[in-house]
Amino acid sequence: MEPIIKCPDCNLTMEKGFMPDKGRGELRQARWFPGNATFGTCLKLYWFDPKGTRLITSYCCPQCGLLRSYAFLGTN
Ligand SMILES: [Zn+2]
Repeated sequence: MEPIIKCPDCNLTMEKGFMPDKGRGELRQARWFPGNATFGTCLKLYWFDPKGTRLITSYCCPQCGLLRSYAFLGTN
């Protein structure tokens, strides 16, 4: 069952969406990673272990545009 997220300012139901993450010529849904980011040379972000990551779902208020993002359990 989809959660109903209400805007704390307008009390309207927020619209479900996602933030894209571009890499290697493709678009994916952005993920939340536990812990600290690890950077290599030239600020290239490295991550090797997708264990414990979650897809990020974002909700937008249709009136004021407020965004709220969630990394729900079970979205890996
Ligand atoms: Zn609002």
